[in-house]
Amino acid sequence: MPPSDLSLELPLSEMGQAALSYVRQGFWVVPVHAVLGRDLCSCQRARSGCQSPGKHPRKIDRRFVATNDAAIVERLWRRWPNMNVGLAPRRSGLITIDVDRRPDGADGLAALAIRFGQPVLDTVRASSGGGGWHVYFRLSPDLNALLPRHYLGPGGVGMPRMVVVAPSLHPSLRPYAWHLGEGPEVRAPLAVPPLLEAYLRRVAAEGEFVRRARGSWRDRLQRAAHRSRLAPVRRLFSRLDREPGS
Ligand SMILES: [Zn+2]
Repeated sequence: MPPSDLSLELPLSEMGQAALSYVRQGFWVVPVHAVLGRDLCSCQRARSGCQSPGKHPRKIDRRFVATNDAAIVERLWRRWPNMNVGLAPRRSGLITIDVDRRPDGADGLAALAIRFGQPVLDTVRASSGGGGWHVYFRLSPDLNALLPRHYLGPGGVGMPRMVVVAPSLHPSLRPYAWHLGEGPEVRAPLAVPPLLEAYLRRVAAEGEFVRRARGSWRDRLQRAAHRSRLAPVRRLFSRLDREPGS
């Protein structure tokens, strides 16, 4: 469907231009609800108190949308010009580590660098308006394929399906910003450093375990039985265990 004449006359908003620029660099973007005022989200829950203003995807026709199609991006941001911009890291071949500002004021980024090495400080990162950091690494296709689809791990090492990116507004009304103004569209993030890769491979192995263990109701019952402190329950399930193919 060709865009209407009207949409051609209107300049694309700052958010729309940013989204388009990410897509042109090969990244997948996600439409995210706008921040209309301090802690005020554009979603329907705004009045009753949205839990994450301007940080959750705006579903289109009730669907989560991630796209790398410039025409779709233009259409979306012309329709809702103030929408924040989300990036789908995994589809874009990236992993993002979310480093929250700690309640005790400790430097989460330094802690992450101690854990995974200097690349944490050298790679592309962004300050989230709330005082935390998003640290980006390039994810090799084989590691990407290995990892569970959604994973939010201990210590803030996670792979959110979507991260909000510059120049989106944080609910504090401060914008997200790339460190030194260098986003992944300007400078390629570093590859996942070895210590992080080792950690992720461990995570992947555990994810595999979870998938297998969730395979059937019987597996689940058996695991519950193994955890059970009731001896008769454990005996019953160890008997079931020995019956092949039932
Ligand atoms: Zn909301």
